[in-house]
Amino acid sequence: MKTTSTQTRAVPVPAQGEAPLIFGTGALSGTPPDALASSLLVGRKGRQLLQQAAAGAPTPPGFILSSAHAGTFQDNGRGLSATLRGELSRGLAHLGQIAGLGFGDKNQPLLISVRSSPPQEMPAALGTVPNLGLTVAAMPALIRRTGDARAAWDAYRRLLHAYGVQVLGVAGDALDALLTAALEAEGAEADHELSAAAMEALARATGNACERLSGAALPADPQEMLERTVAAGFAAWSDPRAVTHREEKALEHLPGPALIVQTMVNGAAKGKSGAGHCYTRIPASGDKKLYGKFMPTALGMDLTAGLRMADGLETLEQRMPEAHRELAGWADKLERNFHDAVRIEFAIEDGRLSLLRTRPATRTARASLKIALDLLDEGICTEQQALRLVDPSVVDEYLHPVLDKSAAHSAVTQGLGASPGSAVGQVVFFAEHAVELAAQGVKTILVRHETSPEDIDGLKVAEGILTGHGGLTSHAAVVGRGMGKCCVVGAGELQINYLINEMTIGETTVKRLDWLSLDGTTGEVFLGQLPQIEPTIQGGMARALEWADRARTLGVHANADTAEDARRAVELGAGGIGLCRTEHMFFEINRIPVFRKMILATDPDGRAAALAELLPLQRKDFMELFRVMEGRPVTIRLLDPPLNEFLPKGIRSQTRMAKAMKISVEAIQQRTEALSENNPMMGHRGCRLAITFPEIYNMQVRAIVEAACIVKKEGTPVTPEIMVPLVTTPRELAVLRESTLAVIRRVCEELGESIVFKVGTMIETPRAAVCSSAIARHADFYSFGTNDLTQMAFGFSRDDSGTFLPAYLEKGILETDPFMALDQAGVGAMVRMAVEQGRRVNPRLKFGICGEHGGDPESVKFFHRVGLDYVSCSPFRIPTARLAAGQAALEQEDPDA
Ligand code: PEP
Ligand code: MG
Repeated sequence: MKTTSTQTRAVPVPAQGEAPLIFGTGALSGTPPDALASSLLVGRKGRQLLQQAAAGAPTPPGFILSSAHAGTFQDNGRGLSATLRGELSRGLAHLGQIAGLGFGDKNQPLLISVRSSPPQEMPAALGTVPNLGLTVAAMPALIRRTGDARAAWDAYRRLLHAYGVQVLGVAGDALDALLTAALEAEGAEADHELSAAAMEALARATGNACERLSGAALPADPQEMLERTVAAGFAAWSDPRAVTHREEKALEHLPGPALIVQTMVNGAAKGKSGAGHCYTRIPASGDKKLYGKFMPTALGMDLTAGLRMADGLETLEQRMPEAHRELAGWADKLERNFHDAVRIEFAIEDGRLSLLRTRPATRTARASLKIALDLLDEGICTEQQALRLVDPSVVDEYLHPVLDKSAAHSAVTQGLGASPGSAVGQVVFFAEHAVELAAQGVKTILVRHETSPEDIDGLKVAEGILTGHGGLTSHAAVVGRGMGKCCVVGAGELQINYLINEMTIGETTVKRLDWLSLDGTTGEVFLGQLPQIEPTIQGGMARALEWADRARTLGVHANADTAEDARRAVELGAGGIGLCRTEHMFFEINRIPVFRKMILATDPDGRAAALAELLPLQRKDFMELFRVMEGRPVTIRLLDPPLNEFLPKGIRSQTRMAKAMKISVEAIQQRTEALSENNPMMGHRGCRLAITFPEIYNMQVRAIVEAACIVKKEGTPVTPEIMVPLVTTPRELAVLRESTLAVIRRVCEELGESIVFKVGTMIETPRAAVCSSAIARHADFYSFGTNDLTQMAFGFSRDDSGTFLPAYLEKGILETDPFMALDQAGVGAMVRMAVEQGRRVNPRLKFGICGEHGGDPESVKFFHRVGLDYVSCSPFRIPTARLAAGQAALEQEDPDA
C-alpha cells in the first residue's frame, strides 16, 4: 500500500464559447481534435468518439458542442444564444464542405444526427435524433441520390418519431402503434418490407400524430428543428428526474451535457448496407473472440427495437467479407488504443464501413478479471489500467462456493442476498436444533423470522441462514457476513409456524429436515439439494490484489471479534482490526450466564462480583487478538448493545435460565419487561450504559490494558485503540475518556509497563457528526458507524426496514439500499462534514469507518475521496475493499483514464 496522502486533483473546467470540436474522416480542421479532452467538457460518448477518430478509425465526420454551453444555451427565451448559434453554423459549414452538401439545402441535403453526451449516465438525457436536415421538400433529392424511395421516407419517419418523442414529449407507444398498424395493413413483418407508398403514408401519419398529440406544429425549417433539438438536449439536464438523480448521487458539481452532431450514415439503404455491433472479447467468459450482431438494411436503433431478429457476425462475413475484415482490424487496433476490451457500433452504407461509437465493453465480473489479466499479459494495458478493469464483486466468486443452477427449477422465493456464497442443508427452525444436528454431522439451514444474539451458537454451526424479516444490516445479515456464511434475509413470503416446525412459502410447505439451497448473492431460495461449485482462489485474483495494494493509499482493516476471525482477516490482507465488537464475546455459551448475573444484580456489589468473573475471560480474548495482530492496530469497542439483548426472549429459554440460575421465571420476566424497549436501538445502549454503570467499561478497559501489557511483555508489539460507541455530546466523550485514561494509567503502573493507547469514538449519531469540531478535541480517532448513522439519518430501523425498503427500490424512490451502499448525498455529507471539522480542530485525528459500507466498492471509493485513513469490513469482504481502494486512488489521479 502506498503511504502518500490522498490529494484532490483539480478538474479542468470547460471554457465558454469554444470553437466546435470537429472530428472524423475527412475533417478539415487544422488542429486535430484533442482525443484526451476531459469528459467534463465533451461528455463520455464525446470523449470516446474523439479517441476513436484520433486513432484513425473510419468515423462519420461531426462536431461536439461542449458542456460550456450547458448553462448559457438560451438567449433569454429567444432561442439559442448567439455564441452557440455561431458555433453550430461553423460546425455545419464544415461538415457540408466535407460532404459537398448543405444543411437545409433541399437539392443537396446534408443529414445529421444530434445526441446527448453527459459526463455520466443521466436519466432523461436526449437520445439520438437522426436525419435532421430532411424535409418533405428535400425528399425528391434524397430519393434521387439513394435511388430508394422507401428508405428515404423511412429516414424522414424516423426523424419525426425521434423529434416527437424526445423534443415534443409525445408518448413513443402512440407512434409505435402507427408502425404496427402499417405493417398489419401490408401484411409485412418488418419496416423494411413496407412499400415506398406505405412508408410515405406512415411518415406523414407520424408527423400528424406528433402535432396532434403535442399541440405544437412541426417546424418546416430544418434549422429551426435543429435548434430546438439542441435546446432540448441542453435543457434535459434540468429535467426533474435528472436533478433528483444528481442530488441523490451527490453529483451537483457536474457541468452538464455536451451534444454530439454527426453526419448520418444510412445503414437502412438498399444493397450492401446494414448496422451492427461487436465485442472484442466474449462478455460472459472474457475469451478473445470477435462476437456481435449484424442486421442488413438497418440503423443501429433497429437492433435494440426488437422488431426484427439480428444475425451473428457470420452474416456480415458472408455478405460483405471486405467490411468484416476491416472491422476485425479496427477491433484489434481500438483495443490497443482504449487499453480495454471494447464494444464497437458500426454501420455500412454501400459497402463502406463507418464506426459510430467505441466504448468499454460490458462484461461479467468473472470475465472482467480474465480480460484484465489477458490485456496486461498481451501488452495492451499497464498494471494500473488492468486494475481499473476488474469488477471488485468478482471476489465473491473466488471466496465462496456458488450454486450450480443449471439443473434447478426456478427459485421458490427470493429475499435479500445478505452474505454471498451458497448453502445447502436441512431446515431447522431453532438454533439449538442446529447445534444438536451439527454434532451428528448434519448440515442445516437455520430458518427464523429474525435472529437475535441468543441464536449465536446455531448461527455458528448452520450452513446458511434464512430469515423472513430484516434488512441488510439486521442481526442475521451482520453476523452472517462476519462469519462469511451464506445468508438470505427479508424473504417476506415465509410463514413460519414454530409450534409444528413447519413453514409455508406461498403454496409450498417446508418441514423440519427438508432440504433447501440458498444463494446469498441473489437472495434466491431453492427447494432441494443443488450441487455447489467449490471456490478456488486462482493466481489471477492474487495478482489483481497485488496491483491494488501497490496503488492504494486507503487502509483496509477488519471487523473481527475473535482470534479466529482476526487470523482469517490477516490472511485476506487486513492491515488491522477496525472494530472488535466486545459484546460478541459475552454471548459465548460459558459466559452469558455470568453476564446475565451482572445484569440481574440489583446493587453495585453484585455487579462488581459478576464483572470480576468476566475480567479474566475478556483479558484472555484481548491477549489472543493482540498476539494474532502482532502490532497492527486493534480497535476495541466498549460494550454497545442494550442490556435487554442479553436476556432470553421466549418462555422456553426463560424457564431454562431460571432453572440454571435457581431463581424464579417471574424474576427474569420482570427484569426483561423493565428493560424492554420499543425503538430502533435508540435507548439505553452504547456509551449511555457507561454513564449509568461506569463499572462495565472500567472492567473492559482494565481487561484490554492488562492484555496489552502481558502480550507486550511476551515480546509481541501491541497497538491498542479503545473506542467509545454512540457518542452524541462532547461532554459524554470527555467524561468517558477521562475515566478510560485513569484506568489505563492505573493498570500500566500496577504492571510496570508503558503503552501508548489511543482513545477514540464512533461517529454514528447525526448529532456527533454535526458537532464534530467539539467532539474532535476529546478523541484520538473517529470511526464512522455508518450502520447507525444511516439508521438515524433516514429514520429507517435497521431491523424493520425489510418491510418497506423493497417497495422503495421497486418504485425507484431509492436507487439502492442505503444500508448496503452509502447514501453519499445525505449520510456521506455528514461524514464529509465531520472529517473536515474534526481535522481542522485536531489535525492528528485518524479517520476510519466500520459500518457495513466498508466492504461496498462504491462506498469505499467515496471514503477514499473524503480522505479517510482506512475502511473496516467483515474479513470476507477485505479483498473487495482492497480492489476498490486501489481503483479509487487511480480514479482520483485521472478520472477519465
Ligand atoms: C455501525 O453502527 O456502523 C457499527 C459498526 O456498529 P454496529 O453495527 O455494531 O451498531
Ligand atoms: Mg453502531
